[in-house]
Amino acid sequence: MAAKPPAQIRVRRHPERGHYDHETVYAILDEATVCHVGFLREGMPVVLPTLHVRVDDRLYLHGAVASGLLKSMAKGVPVCVTVTELDGLVLARSVYNHSLNYRSAVVFGQAYEVTDAEEKLQALRALVEKVQPGRWQDARQPNAVEFRTTRVTALRIESASAKVRSGPPVDDAEDMGLPVWAGVIPIQTVRGAPEADPGLPAGVTVPPYILGRTD
Ligand SMILES: Cc1cc2nc3c(=O)[nH]c(=O)nc-3n(C[C@H](O)[C@H](O)[C@H](O)COP(=O)(O)OP(=O)(O)OC[C@H]3O[C@@H](n4cnc5c(N)ncnc54)[C@H](O)[C@@H]3O)c2cc1C
Repeated sequence: MAAKPPAQIRVRRHPERGHYDHETVYAILDEATVCHVGFLREGMPVVLPTLHVRVDDRLYLHGAVASGLLKSMAKGVPVCVTVTELDGLVLARSVYNHSLNYRSAVVFGQAYEVTDAEEKLQALRALVEKVQPGRWQDARQPNAVEFRTTRVTALRIESASAKVRSGPPVDDAEDMGLPVWAGVIPIQTVRGAPEADPGLPAGVTVPPYILGRTD
């Protein structure tokens, strides 16, 4: 991510919302649980949602060896990975100026299959720990068949942009006096209370790490 961003990643529409530094891009990638991977499949564009995790300057994805997405990535096709965090609904005085507050990131690159067993295991661990810190040590870890039938691909984060909108609506001067409510409706993703699997053996309780405790 150079000081002057290359044309491919330069945010042209509202350039003031563009960011190219690792800190901003990584923070958005780390907070988002789901990414969307865009690539060409038999000449047609496909965009598929999937789980991701960032480790240093690598973005890791995983899936069944039969997954078309993972197969294509393993072949090294060019991909575009995006993530979006929605922060608010921006209601303006005019319908034209309605907007959304968001943080989004776009990463371009060529993926590769992770074949080194240790890197693959660490990537799987990072994916699980991203979903629920503390889970990897607690749950049964992958056996040889599960490990073999899971494909892990990676993408070096070399070419990436972030776009961030925040704050109130931006209305035209002549609309400012209109008797129309304007403002922001904040949007948050909130974890709910754990719902136990009905098949749990008696006595298995919610572990502290799921409740956000360290005891
Ligand atoms: C939740 C959400 C809702 C949106 N809704 C709309 C909408 O309704 N209408 C609309 O026109 N736009 C919307 N946008 C903005 C949209 O993502 C584009 O930025 C915008 O449409 C400009 O497209 P462009 O092709 O002209 O981008 P350009 O600025 O020409 O894109 C050039 C490069 O800038 C970077 N870039 C562009 N957009 C983003 C982004 N969002 N995040 C990170 N990097 C980016 C990419 O690297 C891209 O290759 C929304 C964005 C988000 C996150």
